[in-house]
Amino acid sequence: MAHEAVATLENDFLASVNLLDAAIHGSRPSAGSVARAYANLAYLRGYCDANARAFENIAPKVWRELYIRDEQVLAAFHRSVAFGVGEESLKANWITWLEARIAEAVIVGSCERSRRQAVEALRLADSAQVAVLDRLKLRPNASASGPVALFSALVQIEKGATREKLMRAWRAARGERIGDAVRLLDEHLALNRNLARRRGYASVLDKTLARGNCAEAEIADFLEKYAATAVERHRHLCDWIAADIDRCVDPLAHFPRFLVNKADGAGVVAFDFGRCLEFLLGVFADCLGVHGRVKQRGGILDIEIRYDGKRCGLISIDRLEGDWVPRRSLPDEPWARVLRHTRLNDTGREAMSFDAVQSLYHQCGHALSHVLSPHPHTSASGVDWLPAEQLERLSTWSEMWTFDEKFGRHLEIATELLARCRKIKALEFERGRLERVATSLFDFELHRLNERGVQATFAMAIKSAVLSPDVTAPAVSASFDFYRAHVGGEGA
Ligand SMILES: [Zn+2]
Repeated sequence: MAHEAVATLENDFLASVNLLDAAIHGSRPSAGSVARAYANLAYLRGYCDANARAFENIAPKVWRELYIRDEQVLAAFHRSVAFGVGEESLKANWITWLEARIAEAVIVGSCERSRRQAVEALRLADSAQVAVLDRLKLRPNASASGPVALFSALVQIEKGATREKLMRAWRAARGERIGDAVRLLDEHLALNRNLARRRGYASVLDKTLARGNCAEAEIADFLEKYAATAVERHRHLCDWIAADIDRCVDPLAHFPRFLVNKADGAGVVAFDFGRCLEFLLGVFADCLGVHGRVKQRGGILDIEIRYDGKRCGLISIDRLEGDWVPRRSLPDEPWARVLRHTRLNDTGREAMSFDAVQSLYHQCGHALSHVLSPHPHTSASGVDWLPAEQLERLSTWSEMWTFDEKFGRHLEIATELLARCRKIKALEFERGRLERVATSLFDFELHRLNERGVQATFAMAIKSAVLSPDVTAPAVSASFDFYRAHVGGEGA
């Protein structure tokens, strides 16, 4: 896609050379002005090439957004040079503007590269952790990794002391590998900060808040209060777990077994995918007036989204297993891809766990934000046209429908089973609460302060907040999992 855009740009470039040539030969200008005109074109060419290099691997929409601006550059070029109305000052302005654009394109390109490297370093830390499970033959299946693999390993271990030992080994494996990721994240951060400053903001946070309604002080206040609640609830959960386990030092090592004991059976895959989707589309139609029409394309479901009588985009729901079948070309409309985690049940229908339904609804909420975007050239994620405080609104709202009584009725799920599913969900939420708030505080300080690196900021955020001593060193590395979701945007 990017290459196609480059080709078009090059054609435009050749066309403008021809136009220029004709204009020059028609009016017999001086040798100096011809040389200047060609120098300008060479400049434009260099600019286009720098863009092409910097954006080679970036999602097409980002490229397209730039390309639109490039067309304006070409138009300006036609006006100022090719048709003889170019005054020196206009050209000088134009070149200054181009220089700034080239410099920025290079930074954005490096930013994307450093992000990819940081994500790769985090992936290596993940594999080091999974290797621990492999050595102990506790990995549930070849594709399981991260918290899911750890959870099922901890459930299998009978002895409490062994569970705590595994938890220590798991954290240590990550700790050994996290150095590289930290260094790369620091590089990424420095580039992001540079970009924010170039665009006239005091900090990355400033840039993020510019499109929202939230003030820095408001966020700081919220985080502080939420941290206090999180610490209290976390201690309560730990005491509750410890009451069940002999000589318990690290309550979180026993959480998976605790969860299974408290709400046995809720992990079952009992929710029919087709009906789940039908219910959600019904909600979208009734509450938002947004209509989705489903079409099957191999293993993928394409949902055409219509609003106000107009077709506005496409959401493709793809199975996690199996091959991803790309569309032959990208549609010329907003398009979002959502994954569904399903398994075939006894009757050969696709079914999901409660957790997977919530994830599906959540993702569909984001996808809807994307396709309903009033801006034609949104970013790859497609949601960052929204102010930061609204990013999760539609997704959370969609997800909460799994708690509505109409959901259970539509799916014909036994009330008792649904109640257990919800209880599990609530406990899992409690389990992650402290890590979430620690990550938010860390993220906030990192982008607000604009000077310290990743490690120093984390230490400071934890120390200054009420979190200490509940959040200890291992949480630093665990929090990178949450942080990873954030490095995708420009530090939003
Ligand atoms: Zn979300």
